[in-house]
Parts: sequence; structure tokens; C-alpha cells
Amino acid sequence: MEKFTQTARTTLRRLPLRGAFDRESINQILDEGFICHVGFADEGQPFVIPTGYARVNDKLLVHGSQASRMLRTLGQGIEVCVTVTLADGLVLARSAFHHSMNYRSVVVFGRATVVDEREEKLAALRALSEHMIPGRWDDVRAPNERELHLTTVLSLPLDEVSVIMRTGPPLDDEEDYEVAVWAGVIPLRLVADAPISDPRLPAEIDPPDYALGYSRLRPKR
Ligand SMILES: Cc1cc2nc3c(=O)[nH]c(=O)nc-3n(C[C@H](O)[C@H](O)[C@H](O)COP(=O)(O)OP(=O)(O)OC[C@H]3O[C@@H](n4cnc5c(N)ncnc54)[C@H](O)[C@@H]3O)c2cc1C
Repeated sequence: MEKFTQTARTTLRRLPLRGAFDRESINQILDEGFICHVGFADEGQPFVIPTGYARVNDKLLVHGSQASRMLRTLGQGIEVCVTVTLADGLVLARSAFHHSMNYRSVVVFGRATVVDEREEKLAALRALSEHMIPGRWDDVRAPNERELHLTTVLSLPLDEVSVIMRTGPPLDDEEDYEVAVWAGVIPLRLVADAPISDPRLPAEIDPPDYALGYSRLRPKR
């Protein structure tokens, strides 16, 4: 199993037992999620901006308007920190103190580069679309030259990465197991409701299967 090398920045200090450094765990989390938070400093001011992403092999891709401060700043190759979090459950303990959450989260450090080459950029945009809605790209009009020009794509190497996961029931202090209060886990998951057709859609166009059966659960890769 391929492991990430721990660095000073990715060494877990407080919760080492829940850490993981194998690429399979991180890929699974990154493939199930689709929103990341991008942290960077611009002229000494920290920003943390939510945005969509896709993973392609050992790269994380983000995209957006050429005018975006986030993308312009990151494109200069500055240090960036990106996080992805999946909330799996609320953990209700017998004491207020030991309440917790079941979760899987990834932190990535590195420097992004701009994806400029036309075919590479198109492939990245396709990957972003397919990461969020598999099957969509082939159905829709492809970006034209103007749209391509207005869109910036950045690629961040998945080299310096850490993962933390929590699973399982609450962990109470031994003496608290006698407290007569419900304890356990409220599992959480992201579920899609039935798609709502655009009011301007001709009545004969039905929602595609990828909209009807939308799920974030991804087969293992
Ligand atoms: C779920 C989700 C997915 C998104 N996906 C993308 C994407 O794929 N590509 C993309 O370009 N953008 C995406 N956005 C929008 C993104 O968060 C930024 O708003 C956008 O990229 C503009 O960034 P900027 O650095 O130019 O913002 P600026 O306009 O420079 O930000 C100025 C100020 O506006 C406020 N601000 C900016 N963004 C937000 C925000 N999202 N919420 C609250 N306050 C904000 C902050 O105070 C910030 O300092 C997404 C947002 C969400 C919530």
C-alpha cells in the first residue's frame, strides 16, 4: 500500500491514532467529497474560500473565473492549504465532554500551478465536471474558446497530505457508563432528492439516470 511521507506539517500531534497516510484512504475521501476549503494568505491577510474540486491521479484540480482572487493568488505559486471534510455522524456520549463526530478529513499542503495548455485544460474541466456529475460532460455543449479563456484551472500536487478519520461509538469515562442517558451515533450522509426540471425545459426531456440516481458514494479506485 502506497504511503505518504509525513512531514513536519502533516505529523498529527493530538490524534495520532486516527491518522492515516495511505493513498487509498485519501483517494476514497477525495472522490466522495466535492467541496474543499482553500486557505491562503494574500498580502498578509488569511482567506479560506470554499470551492469545488476534482482529484485526477495524484493531483487536485480547482477552477473558476479568471477574475477570482483565490485563483489569481494561488496561480502565483504561493503556499496553500486545502481541506476536505466528510461528516459521517454525530457521536452522543454520556458526558457532554466526550461528545464527538465521526468524520473523514484530508489536509493538503503545497503550491498550485496553472493548467494552461488547451487540451490539458479541457481534460481538467472534463474531470471537474465528471467528479461532480459523472456522465454529464458528454451530454452538454463543450466550452467555447471564450469560455475557456475566461476560466482558470489550477492543479495542486497531492504530495504532502494527511488524513484523519473517526469511526465507532462514543468513548465515555468508565464511571459514566452507568449514567442513564441514551448514547450512540446519529449517522449522517449526503442524499440527493428527486431532480427538479428547469421550468424552461421542453416537457419531453426527462432527467438522465445520473440525475435520478445521484450519489456521492464512489466505487473504490
Ligand atoms: C459549495 C461551493 C462551491 C463553489 N465552487 C466554486 C468553483 O468551483 N469555482 C469558483 O471559482 N468558485 C466556487 N465557489 C465560489 C467561491 O467560494 C468564491 O466565492 C469565488 O471563487 C470567488 O473567489 P474570490 O477569491 O475571487 O472572492 P473575492 O470576491 O475576492 O472575495 C471577497 C470576499 O468575499 C467573501 N466571499 C468570497 N467567497 C465567499 C463565499 N463562498 N462565501 C462567503 N463569502 C465569500 C469573503 O469575505 C472574501 O474575502 C464555490 C462556493 C461554494 C460555497
